[in-house]
Amino acid sequence: MDTPIKIALVRCDKISETCPAADCFDSFNNKWGGFERYQGQSIIMVGSMTCGGCPGRRVSWLLKELMEKKGLQVVHFSTCVGGFDGKYNHQRCIHMKNMAGYAHDLGLEVVGME
Ligand code: SF4
Repeated sequence: MDTPIKIALVRCDKISETCPAADCFDSFNNKWGGFERYQGQSIIMVGSMTCGGCPGRRVSWLLKELMEKKGLQVVHFSTCVGGFDGKYNHQRCIHMKNMAGYAHDLGLEVVGME
């Protein structure tokens, strides 16, 4: 069996007040949407967080923590942050580029900027 890819999910703090992330977890569990790319591969969710509120104030240190403690490899920004067109059509968060930058600086792969 292949070694699972270690993933974390980052969601919009404001939108999390009205969204329990059901479709985020369904897409992870069943590999659709942003997780479709992992068809045929093993994946595990090592952490899930909101950004902590504008301007994404806790993303940097929480991702660092997950890297150090859980070997996090890939961070997925949810549609409520990244603003994908498709099933959902949120506007991209204006702080997304900075948050993705933190993740890149840590050496993480980032999904959700497409
Ligand atoms: S920084 Fe972006 S993702 Fe986070 S609460 Fe503000 S609008 Fe939402």
